[in-house]
Amino acid sequence: MLLRRNVSLAPYLTMRVDHVAREFVTIRSIADLDAARRHCDAPYRILGGGSNIVPVANVSGTVLHICIEGIEILADDGNAVTVRVGAGEQWHEFVEWSVDRDFGGLENLALIPGTVGAAPMQNIGAYGVEQSRCFLQLECVNMSTGERLVVDAPTCRFGYRDSVFKQEWRDVMVITSVTYMLNRQAPLVTDYADVRRAIEGCTHTPTRRDVFDAVVAIRTAKLPNPAELPNSGSFFKNPVIDADQAAMLLSQHPAMPQWPVSDGRVKLAAAWLIDQCGWKGFRNNGVGVHTNQALVIVNAEGGTGSTVWQMAADIQRSVADAFGVELEAEVNRWD
Ligand SMILES: Cc1cc2nc3c(=O)[nH]c(=O)nc-3n(C[C@H](O)[C@H](O)[C@H](O)COP(=O)(O)OP(=O)(O)OC[C@H]3O[C@@H](n4cnc5c(N)ncnc54)[C@H](O)[C@@H]3O)c2cc1C
Repeated sequence: MLLRRNVSLAPYLTMRVDHVAREFVTIRSIADLDAARRHCDAPYRILGGGSNIVPVANVSGTVLHICIEGIEILADDGNAVTVRVGAGEQWHEFVEWSVDRDFGGLENLALIPGTVGAAPMQNIGAYGVEQSRCFLQLECVNMSTGERLVVDAPTCRFGYRDSVFKQEWRDVMVITSVTYMLNRQAPLVTDYADVRRAIEGCTHTPTRRDVFDAVVAIRTAKLPNPAELPNSGSFFKNPVIDADQAAMLLSQHPAMPQWPVSDGRVKLAAAWLIDQCGWKGFRNNGVGVHTNQALVIVNAEGGTGSTVWQMAADIQRSVADAFGVELEAEVNRWD
């Protein structure tokens, strides 16, 4: 276990806010987690690739930086392949590894920043697929008791950008590995207009690699690269509201994008709501809203965590005032 004190978090967060962790531990194994429980002070904060975390200020507890590596094929029946992946592996590299072998199911989730261990936490999703599509189980350690658990999908309670790890198990259960069931026969998912358009341009029967390449190209064109312009991706979740309220809003705003969801409610586009309130391109105290993507808050010039969260609160208030809709942050806030 490598323990350091008073470590700047800026290099570990894609938002690059410069707050300090009092204790910062590099975790490369389950034994390291046991050592951290014995020698480091709670509360613990769990850090993967830092692409979905913005601290408000300095962090007083212990940051556990999860760097557990390894990809292992556990079973292969010719179609289905069971793969266990260390929580510290890079998500995109794992997806590319699977596409290289024609192990299907996760290709639409190419280029999502971060680690494999964080993927179940908010059940990452993009272009019509969520990681739960291929999830089999995960292993985690309870930092309160030291207990090791194997957790299946129902226990994870996966939802839209949600799971039990984002709720009552947050910062208690450290995911150490995730096991996925991939499949050479998994159908390609090309429902999203951008993906469909790219695939329609193929002169051959589209392959998994074509979908992967299309998603990489779309994301590269659409989303700001955190290495060039610090950000945490979509700052807010798309709100899901009652059908009655959705109908009322549509009568007032006929151009409002809406999608029915399975429980009879309606999903709205957070980006559209924020854009209508005039936030695109706004800048204040080094922090702003991306000029092309209203859902992305950027740290253009050395803003702090508190300025980021202040801007998020201002955006939430203006959307609530204009539409009566509450925006929930997707990004994780460390108080
Ligand atoms: C440019 C950009 C684009 C993005 N696009 C998407 C997208 O399309 N879809 C999407 O769903 N997300 C997207 N995201 C958000 C982000 O990439 C995902 O949430 C990703 O899974 C975060 O991984 P991470 O390792 O960086 O997690 P971190 O930011 O380090 O942590 C995120 C949360 O997970 C917890 N956590 C991390 N590791 C573990 C672990 N091993 N055990 C338990 N808890 C853990 C942390 O405590 C924190 O609460 C995007 C982000 C950026 C910057």
